[in-house]
Amino acid sequence: MNPVVDYLRISLIDRCNFRCLYCMPEEAELEYLQRPELLTSAELLTLLRDVLIPCGFTRFRLTGGEPLVRSDVVEIVRAIAAFPETQDLSMTTNGFRLAEMAQDLYTAGLRRINISLDSLEPETFDRIIGSRGRSRWQQVWTGIQAAHSVGFTPLKLNVVVIPGVNDHEVLELAALSIEREWHVRFIEFMPIGNHDLFGQKGWIDSETLRQQIRERWGLTEAQVKGNGPADVFRIPNAKGTLGFISQMSECFCDRCNRMRLSADGWLRPCLLNETGQLDLKTALRSGMPLIDLRAKVQALLDAKPEINFKMRDSGTTGAYSRTMSQIGG
Ligand code: SAM
Ligand code: SF4
Repeated sequence: MNPVVDYLRISLIDRCNFRCLYCMPEEAELEYLQRPELLTSAELLTLLRDVLIPCGFTRFRLTGGEPLVRSDVVEIVRAIAAFPETQDLSMTTNGFRLAEMAQDLYTAGLRRINISLDSLEPETFDRIIGSRGRSRWQQVWTGIQAAHSVGFTPLKLNVVVIPGVNDHEVLELAALSIEREWHVRFIEFMPIGNHDLFGQKGWIDSETLRQQIRERWGLTEAQVKGNGPADVFRIPNAKGTLGFISQMSECFCDRCNRMRLSADGWLRPCLLNETGQLDLKTALRSGMPLIDLRAKVQALLDAKPEINFKMRDSGTTGAYSRTMSQIGG
């Protein structure tokens, strides 16, 4: 049976204050959306309340680009958290602005947060995020502590493992789950964003990482309920868990419960297959009746089981030329 599609990843902005080497091309300038092209918060909330929630979406993740560089992010969180239908509201962030914003986000109603942390070594971290000036590692680490202190649970840390860059830190990063109730998630590096780097370095499959961890501490499967595609394990007696997101080595299209709304209002049924995508912003701005918009979204939901990822054998789709920051990762 096809899973219910009730989870929407909402990109608030395509811009970012980092330039991670796995996410963006090293040299080329990215073309960012201009402000008038972005959905305003009022448009976003109208689409949610009058179109997407009535079509069954009840669980939302705010992402980007970097969601915390959008100036009205706290108001957006507050409004989405206040919809009676909202069952879950979470965010994926690089954590750079969390030290100053964690409390406001929590007070506004955000309860779950995923923070990208690809390295515990400041030098490696700065190399990954493309920081040329002062190190940014400490600021992100302080942001993680702030999120922990204000009560975000579960607190998840996302790691993209790149051979020869941060793969030597897998055990140290996994160890963060032992003493604290933190969930460390290892994501297989995908050929999106920086194709040159992918070509040079390749990727490491989740099972290879699990084997390293198993040899060091042992590893048991953990039963964890979540929205996502992660396979979840635990180091024996650890407080937190280890998640593995294996979109390169496994196909989890048959478990897919999500769609994506880009910062400029495109509703996309799949990360890498844009068949049927809907330009909700243009439809809304041109005055299309909301009932017609709902019918279009419902038709896309009905078609979704046939719109697949299959990235390893699908060749090039339009999405390949976009970065994760542009698609809304
Ligand atoms: N800026 C936020 C952050 O970095 O957490 C949110 C947006 S970012 C695009 C969302 C996620 O996409 C991050 O966890 C990032 O590691 C992941 N990502 C970006 N490019 C990727 C790639 N080529 N392969 C695998 N994951 C990638
Ligand atoms: Fe920015 Fe996130 Fe992409 Fe890094 S992964 S460049 S923090 S959008």
